[in-house]
Amino acid sequence: MRDLSSFHHIETLCAQAGYDPASGDPRVPPIVQSTTFYYDRAEQLADLFDLKAEGCFYSRLGNPTCEVLEKKVAALEGGVGAIALSSGQAATLLTVLNVCGAGDHVVCSQAVYGGTFNLLDVTLKKLGIEVTFVPAQASQAEIEAAIRPQTRLLFGETIANPAVEVLNFEAFAGAAKKFGILFAVDNTLATPVNCRPLEWGADLVTHSSSKYLDGHAVALGGIIVDGGRFDFSDNPRYPEFNRPDESYHGLVYSRDCGNRAFLVKARGQLLRDLGTTMSPMNAFLTELGTETLHLRMERTNRNALAVAEFLAGHPEVEFVRYPFLKGENAALAKKYLTGGGGMISFGLTGGRERAARFIAALKLFANVTHVADLRSSVIHPASTTHRQMSEEALEKAGIRPNQIRLSIGIEHEEDLIADLKQAIERA
Ligand SMILES: *Cc1c(COP(=O)(O)O)cnc(C)c1O
Repeated sequence: MRDLSSFHHIETLCAQAGYDPASGDPRVPPIVQSTTFYYDRAEQLADLFDLKAEGCFYSRLGNPTCEVLEKKVAALEGGVGAIALSSGQAATLLTVLNVCGAGDHVVCSQAVYGGTFNLLDVTLKKLGIEVTFVPAQASQAEIEAAIRPQTRLLFGETIANPAVEVLNFEAFAGAAKKFGILFAVDNTLATPVNCRPLEWGADLVTHSSSKYLDGHAVALGGIIVDGGRFDFSDNPRYPEFNRPDESYHGLVYSRDCGNRAFLVKARGQLLRDLGTTMSPMNAFLTELGTETLHLRMERTNRNALAVAEFLAGHPEVEFVRYPFLKGENAALAKKYLTGGGGMISFGLTGGRERAARFIAALKLFANVTHVADLRSSVIHPASTTHRQMSEEALEKAGIRPNQIRLSIGIEHEEDLIADLKQAIERA
């Protein structure tokens, strides 16, 4: 095997990290389409079941193709390891359930993906897990005021979908550190090319890999990356980490698993019991996507900034939200991001009806639910993803009736701007 450990540039990691073939192996990571794995002796399998040895034995708990993707994304984010899951929703779910049970509490940024909001506000509430939402750009004092003795997790999004607000990392990380609470960040829309949350005080990073990591809209998936720095030992908030797990013969995660306590517990307990596993085929497709992530993000960042500036200068545009446009976002964007990604929210004059006419008049921008695809897309949240909400509820969620969400792809910026221009005129 070649030693690649001295190469750290994100471009090199995108192209090569995660898979290191031995002599005679396939150059490209193979798709290991097998649910199960063979061992010569019964004791070998017993050690795997007891988490005493590392290796694959059943694909619900781990698979060689998924491992390639896990190593790749862990390297991109600067973490010690990762766990690949069936969707971004599964990544958020396991992040919460690995540290929370009934009676526990999460502090979450209000500007998060709708699925995350519903998971915490509806489904996990029914299981007895409480949540307090705070602004994405809250001060540390505001965040601290929301923390309770039962708080087990702080959660936010680097760039919020669809509010396009940049997270106040320093405030969340400061509060997390002061109270000894785990801090997890959903980095889906920024990607490790534009921001590495572990460098800004996050303990865990999650992704919906269905978005930029895949990038081609072919594979649903989710990932949790562990920074490996959070100390669970002697922390009274995390008894499940520092007391024996009888389902593994008295294993103590914080004592016995080094800097992988979070991942070993998430895989050993939650993947075992919930089965929200990524398939090898999806891991292969997602890994293939990550190989060009840096190139796609470079073009996406450039295109989106050009489009945001065009919209900001257009007389029939009421508002535009993009990380590097002036306003509250700009200072945080300059501090934490090297690029703004592809999501833009904006509103046309003429309200809800004109927004619908505008979308119908677009040619290059496809009207789809997905974002972060290499093809540009558009959606009108008030008449699609958020159509069940009253005008009042929309306002609370930070979504205006005329708000349009663009996801900018890797086409030529002049074509994208020409399409937007003609559609504004026709609408
Ligand atoms: C899409 C998305 C999710 C959910 O991911 P799925 O793969 O669709 O389950 C979570 N967070 C963010 C920021 C997203 O954009």
